[in-house]
Amino acid sequence: MRHLATGDIFRSLDRQSDLGQQFLEYSSRGELVPDDLTIQVWQQHVQKLIDTGCYCPAHDLLVLDGIPRSLAQATAMDRHITVLRIIHLTCANVDEMVARMRRRALRENRHDDADEAVIRRRFEVYERETHPVLSHYDPQLITEINCIGTPAEVLLHVLEAVVPVYNAHFSNPLEE
Ligand code: AMP
Repeated sequence: MRHLATGDIFRSLDRQSDLGQQFLEYSSRGELVPDDLTIQVWQQHVQKLIDTGCYCPAHDLLVLDGIPRSLAQATAMDRHITVLRIIHLTCANVDEMVARMRRRALRENRHDDADEAVIRRRFEVYERETHPVLSHYDPQLITEINCIGTPAEVLLHVLEAVVPVYNAHFSNPLEE
């Protein structure tokens, strides 16, 4: 499986570059990077992984994390990907999520999540732009996972949803 998080891709950009500056401009306000730019960066990154042999679409399950985050992104991605499962991580306790994000910001040096007002803005943007993305897909593809629990418990639930998809589409016991 190849895990790909768009936030990680954006954070790895050179901060002095034009693209890096644009990312900082939006992320420091808790906003989404514009759709066309996001899709372009994502596509280029996936192509680079393919070209360098780090991701092989015929044999590897691509686990996308943090994309699509708007209906426009979901629509733009339709012709590039076949969605086999959607993991919808939920947590009813916003204060608990804010506290976790602040702890993570300190641990991982993530400037965008260091400010509580920016984090709360991110939740507003999520409700307005990202939550509607679920309606773009067949409800049967969606697995809801409650994120209250230890990281190991949440990971276990994610794997319980993802591994059967991997086995059904990619695993070839004769090659193991
Ligand atoms: P994350 O690491 O997923 O929390 O993302 C950090 C920041 O990167 C977000 O607040 C956005 O500014 C930007 N970002 C990541 N993924 C996307 C996306 N799919 N669309 C637009 N902006 C994104």
